[in-house]
Amino acid sequence: MVKSLTFQQLTLITQGQTVLQDREDQPVRYISTDSRKIIHGQQTLFIALKGFKVDGHDYLKDAYEKGVRLFIVQKPLLLNQFPGIAVLQVNDGLKALQAIAKWNRKQFGGTVIGITGSNGKTIIKEWLGQVLASKFALAKSPKSYNSQTGVPLSIFGIEEYHKAAIIEAGISQVGEMARLERIIQPDIGILTNIGTAHAEGFSSQEQKLKEKIKLFNDAQLIIYRKDHPLIHRILQEHFAPSRLVAWSEYAGADYTLSIKKNNNGSKITLIKPDLGIFTFHSPFTDEASLENLRHTMVASLVLGLPEPEIQQVIPGLNTVEMRLTLKSGIHQCLLIDDTYNNDLAGLDIALEFMNTQRPKKRKILMLSDLLQAGKKEDVYNNVRALVRHYQVDMLLGVGQEISQLEENPPCESHFYQDTDQLLEALGTLSFQDDLILIKGARMYRFEQIVDALQERLHGTVLEINLNALRRNFTFYKSQLKPSTKVMIMVKAFAYGGGATEIAHHLQQLNADYLAVAYTDEGVSLRQEQINLPIMVLNPAPESFGNLVKYQLEPVVYSLSFFRQLGAYCHSNHTSLKIHLDLDTGMHRLGFGETDLEALREMITAYPSLKVASMYTHLAGADEADHEEYTKRQLSLFEAMCKTVKGFLGYSPLVHALNSAGIVRYPDFQMDMVRLGIGLYGVEVNGLHQEALQPVSVLKTTISQLKSLKKGETVGYGRKGVMASDGQIATIAIGYADGYDRRFSNGKGQVLIHGKKAAVIGNVCMDMTMIEVTGMDVHEGDEVIIYGEGLSLKEQATAIGTIPYELLTNISSRVKRVYFMD
Ligand SMILES: *Cc1c(COP(=O)(O)O)cnc(C)c1O
Repeated sequence: MVKSLTFQQLTLITQGQTVLQDREDQPVRYISTDSRKIIHGQQTLFIALKGFKVDGHDYLKDAYEKGVRLFIVQKPLLLNQFPGIAVLQVNDGLKALQAIAKWNRKQFGGTVIGITGSNGKTIIKEWLGQVLASKFALAKSPKSYNSQTGVPLSIFGIEEYHKAAIIEAGISQVGEMARLERIIQPDIGILTNIGTAHAEGFSSQEQKLKEKIKLFNDAQLIIYRKDHPLIHRILQEHFAPSRLVAWSEYAGADYTLSIKKNNNGSKITLIKPDLGIFTFHSPFTDEASLENLRHTMVASLVLGLPEPEIQQVIPGLNTVEMRLTLKSGIHQCLLIDDTYNNDLAGLDIALEFMNTQRPKKRKILMLSDLLQAGKKEDVYNNVRALVRHYQVDMLLGVGQEISQLEENPPCESHFYQDTDQLLEALGTLSFQDDLILIKGARMYRFEQIVDALQERLHGTVLEINLNALRRNFTFYKSQLKPSTKVMIMVKAFAYGGGATEIAHHLQQLNADYLAVAYTDEGVSLRQEQINLPIMVLNPAPESFGNLVKYQLEPVVYSLSFFRQLGAYCHSNHTSLKIHLDLDTGMHRLGFGETDLEALREMITAYPSLKVASMYTHLAGADEADHEEYTKRQLSLFEAMCKTVKGFLGYSPLVHALNSAGIVRYPDFQMDMVRLGIGLYGVEVNGLHQEALQPVSVLKTTISQLKSLKKGETVGYGRKGVMASDGQIATIAIGYADGYDRRFSNGKGQVLIHGKKAAVIGNVCMDMTMIEVTGMDVHEGDEVIIYGEGLSLKEQATAIGTIPYELLTNISSRVKRVYFMD
């Protein structure tokens, strides 16, 4: 925080009521809304927020135990149990948080840069941070903390010694930006662009844009790209010309930044308002990166950074390595690769990410000197506190400064002068089944360590973006009433994505239920510490013992199965929670209407089976054609539920909707929905595809290139024939990896450097040939099989199947690699 705050001041700022004042008025320096993250308890104010799912009031005790003595709450529940505290009561915790942030912003004398727009906010913030770091001590919002709670927390990250702060602002509804603007009060604004995505809360693109630019109400300068006509027009309507800083690909704006692409990147020519001309080399050729980069350059120039300094930093900017990547390491270790930059906020995020991973034997942190302004002693005291807080088992420090932790080490620690020394020592450190966070500033080149510890992969990998999964989950949650529970279908290896990691992540996201197809799948989730309730769709009688042992909840779909399971529980003196499948027209499994009378007898006969829920499955929820049928299914289901509830004497959960149903039949959410394919990024109705993100990318590499003459044939059965002289690429994926043989002979397409190329000849077991005539490709280049830019639905349609089959067919020999962008 810029200035610490006393209880007195907080009372004035939040207009709260003092409920308890049983401590001296010591000022606080930190503000927390998440008790798990409290590090300096004594100096922390805890604000209990009532969220969608989580209520901060449930964690007051936890915060107290971590040393917190100052609280802001909406209800002063139980607080009188804790001695030595002070408590303020407010009507709205979020408003209080925002008021405190606003106050702190006012205390800051440096420059605040506010970024908004549809895409690129986080990248521009990171890049601008990198470019400016050479000149200013800088604060920036961690990760993408850009929401109503994220922005205040970002503001609290600003310290007195900072010279500038970069804060991003994101909104999803009308009215939100005005609140963020009052908190951020940017001196300089950047509008990245305006997309069509996430338009739900807005009636039009124009309305969305008008809402976003409210961030700039009091900004002195607003940076934007003139080539977006709507942006240009709206900004001109709202702001005086002297406040607008426009850049463009073409002449006629304040800054012209034209692009020439070449073999190893692009050349950017800058013409400044004073007509000075400079050239820059960038590693990027894709439009999005080039736009983000040019926003970054203009902002740096506006802030007075000399061109040569900008020229120096640009080649080191990188989009790919900015994400925390999980990689499989040698000896069953799991690596978290964070070798891009290193500051305290980033360290906190990375350690938290480490904590949310599946437990391994030890938590090991490899850490270089931090690139962090401020007093070194304070910086490393903070590192010590973080390492303790996250209970790291071993610290391996690299650099001159970090070795000052040697005096009072936070855990078993070893220090190395430079990266080479650590590399040499790796062999002696005997890692085994450990979780290793590798976090270094770029100049330490920690990617060499990652390289040394990484398990070598077969050319094909399935990359799974856990943040995309989270965003898809949030989209579906936004379609639901707050009280509706969500069961996530993680059957079939979580639609190919890997059940354990995904279930683990869903547990973090507070999903309510999981469902698997077979008992074994549930057992392995339990063995990996997944504690959520798990429904088993198709439990076999041999597995009854495991159902009980691992607290799995079977679906019961027939009278004979009910009897078998009931008899098992009776003779073993045990009980089970069960789920009743009611068949209303799917005609797969389930009790029909005529079975209900017999079901009543079963329920009476076997009281050790407790009905946790009743559900039905829709046969055509994804197609408007079947709407009438679906409605009939739903009303039959409601009638059947009523009958069953009548003789049960209690009310189990009822649920009917799958992913497609959530979108089409919002009135039938009932107590719970069952989310499957939508979570993995496919909106099967085709109504909201733009609101979802592909979660997985299947990729491989080019093993060999060949030039062939017209008429030469390719592959088994000589099915591929060269139509003219040209070139083919052999890629390292085949039907044994799950690349369907029906993709043979031009049916399938892949993406190489953003360009589509078709399969030639028959798909082989481990390899496939692609026609790449006229394309600039090299052996070892990456090839996308499914993913961004290549719709799964289109690929599926080309061979007469559905995305479900493509996803679940990806073979288990394909490595799954998880990351968060
Ligand atoms: C697989 C499955 C779902 C999920 O279906 P999606 O179309 O993937 O959302 C829901 N309910 C049952 C019973 C299922 O078997």
